[in-house]
Amino acid sequence: MIELADVSKQFDDKTVLDGVTARIGRGEIFAVIGPSGSGKSTLLRLIDLLDTPTGGAIRIDGVDIHAGKEQSLRTRRMMGMVFQKPAAFNSTVTENVAIGLRFRGASESVIRKKTRDALALVGLAGYEDRRARTLSGGEMQRVALARAMVIEPEILLMDEPTANLDPVSVEKIEELVLRINRDLGTTILFSTHDMYQGQRLAHRIGVLMKGVFAQVGSPRDIFTVPASSEVARFVGTEN
Ligand code: ATP
Ligand code: MG
Repeated sequence: MIELADVSKQFDDKTVLDGVTARIGRGEIFAVIGPSGSGKSTLLRLIDLLDTPTGGAIRIDGVDIHAGKEQSLRTRRMMGMVFQKPAAFNSTVTENVAIGLRFRGASESVIRKKTRDALALVGLAGYEDRRARTLSGGEMQRVALARAMVIEPEILLMDEPTANLDPVSVEKIEELVLRINRDLGTTILFSTHDMYQGQRLAHRIGVLMKGVFAQVGSPRDIFTVPASSEVARFVGTEN
């Protein structure tokens, strides 16, 4: 359903993405892994419509998401996004989660019910009236996940969802990701520089290196049959 067709992105004279190609199926968990600076955030920002590719196309259900206003609006409605460093607005947890619903003009009663459901989903029932700024990093990351999930997205994009978290919080987020995919069928595309996280969560992994996917395959394939010595070195299986 998500098609990356020869996607490239250039900043001035610097080419960050140079022909990224992959298809991500409905209901799939797909991890983009790669070293720091390889373009993971850049790729996710293109899919999330925060930026536009300089070449190629990104299609969702056959629709080029950057083709125009109508296409981008349609796409925004079906995508939830968790950023590398989620920002907390200085208000209650409920208000922090409700943003996407307010944007859609939902009524107060719908907002109350859906934010409560989203907070329960991420294990934060009872946090509705807490000030968001008083939460721990792990709690805030789960609020960010609730904020993405409250609109019931078909696709969830997450850029390094567990960066800077302690191991217990990492485990909680990982369990949630698996549960959301299993129970709601959400297609999940996330980035990580941790290939073991890729292995724990993803059905397939794309290894981003030098502007392209050096390999796309199951975690097992990538660990056991790396496509090149660079991939082997990155996943640490070279001997
Ligand atoms: P990390 O693992 O550290 O988060 P990343 O794989 O997410 O890295 P990106 O943030 O996508 O990498 O950056 C890829 C490259 O593109 C970097 O060299 C970065 O400096 C460059 N870059 C990103 N955004 C811009 C921009 N707006 N203008 C110029 N260069 C940029
Ligand atoms: Mg990044």
